Amino acid sequence: MARPSYPPRWRVAALLGCLLAIGGLSGCSGDVPPEQLLIENVHVVDPVNGLLENRQVLIEDGVIKIVADASQSVDLSTHAERFDGQNRFLIPGLWDMHVHFVYDANLTDHMADLFLDYGITSVRDTGGDIEQLAKLRRTLPLPKPNIYISGPLLDGKFVVYDGTDPARPPLGTGVPKPGDADATVSALQDAGADFIKIYELVQPDTYAALADAAAERNMPIASHVPLMMTADTAGPMAGSMEHLRNIELACASNWQELLNQRRQRIGGFTEGLGHALRAGLHSDQRLPAIAAYDEERCNHVLDTLTKTIQVPTLRLNTVTHLKPFERDDWPAAVSALPQVTQDAWRARIAGLTQIQPVDPTFARWSLFLIERLRARGVPIGAGTDTPIGLGIPGYSLHTELELLVQGGMTPQQALFAATVTPATFFNIENEIGQISPGMRADLVLLQNNPLADIQHTRGIEAVMVSGEWVR
Ligand SMILES: [Zn+2]
Repeated sequence: MARPSYPPRWRVAALLGCLLAIGGLSGCSGDVPPEQLLIENVHVVDPVNGLLENRQVLIEDGVIKIVADASQSVDLSTHAERFDGQNRFLIPGLWDMHVHFVYDANLTDHMADLFLDYGITSVRDTGGDIEQLAKLRRTLPLPKPNIYISGPLLDGKFVVYDGTDPARPPLGTGVPKPGDADATVSALQDAGADFIKIYELVQPDTYAALADAAAERNMPIASHVPLMMTADTAGPMAGSMEHLRNIELACASNWQELLNQRRQRIGGFTEGLGHALRAGLHSDQRLPAIAAYDEERCNHVLDTLTKTIQVPTLRLNTVTHLKPFERDDWPAAVSALPQVTQDAWRARIAGLTQIQPVDPTFARWSLFLIERLRARGVPIGAGTDTPIGLGIPGYSLHTELELLVQGGMTPQQALFAATVTPATFFNIENEIGQISPGMRADLVLLQNNPLADIQHTRGIEAVMVSGEWVR
């Protein structure tokens, strides 16, 4: 497998970790891990408890055992290794809740390494061929992030990602009738799926049947709002909803009229491409729905979603408006991608910059909605849709964190959205996502305090997965 070259600062950080380690050689050479590792002189940034200054963190068998004040004495075994954190800041390993490993075949083999480079130690793949994803997860060499997979986007009779258009690879599959739901979900679970992903052209009765089949098998559901449904009817059946898409329709004063139009269009669609049907509805209804925003109605909708994580993918929703490719650190980040992808993206960016002016309404609406979600107690998770829409694997999660803060979250809440909240989707929040005893030792060492400025998550010194420094 071709591996991208790493920015020098991570090589330096890895070397630094080895030089600072006293005792065993493991962790530097990648052989047997030490039975105990004590990270000293470090400030712990916990997404729940905030900043805990001057701590020491004891790790054993890949799990955090003790988080103690620096003044406390910690009993160590004879083979314990020590690591000087040099007064830097330790955060839990980050999650990207929305990625697609098999969207761009040129990137597939590079993505896991890029995630680790940027401190993303867990990802949720929200759509792609299940066999390919299960094989990838099995065969990727260590170290690798924790990868959770759904298999294909479960769509309706028409499939948006049916593979007929090179811009839309075959990420989806059709579940035309409710009677197909059980066999579909069962086969996915047998093939290794951890959750299911439901897409936009599914019929309401099939949606309900898929939800039942998933619940029976203890599989969480990530979903788009199907176009035949509204956010407040589909959302409560799912563990997460993606992109904030179609919430605008549910929040419109004339939502019923827009929904009727939509149902008629879909009902009368007997031949053609699924993506054309969807794109037509979005482009005809999205902006009018935003213009008809009704706060009272929207509060009612959001109040049905207090148990459904919203993964806004602000990065994706704002890409044409905020132009991340104009940032100073973009060229260095994009240079880690294969040349063929760099060339394709350069052409796309040239095309994008020719569209003048870009309508900023949906981008602004997405940022506005963050504050409303928070006001109504709707959980928010960090995800990017990388590599779709110029999402650089790993790098783009840090952009997402910044945008969550721009939307009104505090840096601590943004970190929570990329650590604790994703774990709750899988019901593993007692195992992963915090720096406290019993949690998996997936950690990122930062130069500066991310609670002071969320951009500091970009200043990565070292990354640990399951108790081993990997960068
Ligand atoms: Zn996606």
